[in-house]
Amino acid sequence: MRQADIIIVGAGPAGLSAAVEAGRLGAQVVVVDENAKPGGQLFKQIHKFFGSREHLAGIRGFDIGQELLAQAQPCAQIKLNSTVYAIYPDKQVALIADGVHQETIRAKKVILAAGASENVLAFPGSTLPGVMSAGAVQTMMNVYQVLPAEEILMIGSGNVGLIVSYQIVQAGGKVNALLEAAPRIGGYGVHAAKISRAGIPILTRHTVQKVLGEEHVEGAIVVQLDDNVQPVPGSERMIACGAIAIAVGLTPLTELAHLAGCQLTFISRLGGMLPVHDDNMETTVPGIYAAGDLTGVEEASSAMEEGRLAGIAAAEALGYIDAGAAAKRKAQVWERLHMLRSGDFGSYRRQMKEEVIEKGRIFHAI
Ligand SMILES: Cc1cc2nc3c(=O)[nH]c(=O)nc-3n(C[C@H](O)[C@H](O)[C@H](O)COP(=O)(O)OP(=O)(O)OC[C@H]3O[C@@H](n4cnc5c(N)ncnc54)[C@H](O)[C@@H]3O)c2cc1C
Repeated sequence: MRQADIIIVGAGPAGLSAAVEAGRLGAQVVVVDENAKPGGQLFKQIHKFFGSREHLAGIRGFDIGQELLAQAQPCAQIKLNSTVYAIYPDKQVALIADGVHQETIRAKKVILAAGASENVLAFPGSTLPGVMSAGAVQTMMNVYQVLPAEEILMIGSGNVGLIVSYQIVQAGGKVNALLEAAPRIGGYGVHAAKISRAGIPILTRHTVQKVLGEEHVEGAIVVQLDDNVQPVPGSERMIACGAIAIAVGLTPLTELAHLAGCQLTFISRLGGMLPVHDDNMETTVPGIYAAGDLTGVEEASSAMEEGRLAGIAAAEALGYIDAGAAAKRKAQVWERLHMLRSGDFGSYRRQMKEEVIEKGRIFHAI
């Protein structure tokens, strides 16, 4: 059976960052990703990132992905088209390699960086061709250069809904309306302002009642919602569209963590169930670490920092770096993470993450 010091599940920003840290310290690292291209979500992101210079503001997502990949390739083996389907207690990681062969690799440490999956909504007609997630729209447009329809209706005003709406317009499509069930827009003001300038109507307190069309989407009946999120009778109206994109949040992909016996906790504002972990990103199963959206849906910048923490901690546990040097590096990462988790949108994330970490500390202390 093949052996590796560290197996990382997921070659997104968290997984690649973990690989760079651990690999540069001398650990033998294998990164496994189910996609044909590494980079996770980053390769669909054609927009420039926001935030501070240290967090790569002004650089496009796919350029960040290319840079990370260039750093990771010399220090890790990246296995693509390969899906991890099980992690056994002795850290045997089972995968379908190259989409065909069953393979098992025994690792000394495992880092889970599988990301999150998009939430779905069910309404009459939601199974018709043309109803899809905003991420699917983004992949079709930015990876395969296919616009799913000329006119699109977007559901959800978080950052994903706002950014993908803008990208539809950039790709030559039209967003006939962006619906939001809540009374307020969920995403950053800077993205909402761009949407408004592009002439896209944002209808807060609105949702889809049903989809119109027999073979594919031809439009939707939308309805206003009252204070109790109930449809306001008589407010129904038709919006023509060839596709409906759903951007109503993400849920951490915790299946492998669950299978490996990691304790999970429920934090609604971070996306739902997620693995309990300590300051080293180590879960409640010794030697299994987790990082990125899997440990709570945030942003690529925090995913990268968490990946770095997990990579340093795993390499430290294997003796590739001494405790003093590791502590110094981890302190620098934590400083940047605190910066990211500050301000109106960030401070609640810090609070929630501290709850998770406190549970992890208590678990490891017992
Ligand atoms: C439209 C949009 C815009 C965004 N804009 C920004 C922005 O401006 N700034 C910012 O900081 N963040 C942004 N983000 C968020 C950012 O993309 C994510 O937070 C980040 O990609 C999370 O990184 P990750 O490595 O945890 O997961 P991912 O990037 O999702 O990577 C996880 C990888 O693991 C793979 N995987 C999962 N399960 C398995 C398995 N069992 N076997 C093998 N492989 C597996 C997945 O296929 C994927 O490739 C945006 C997100 C979206 C959708």
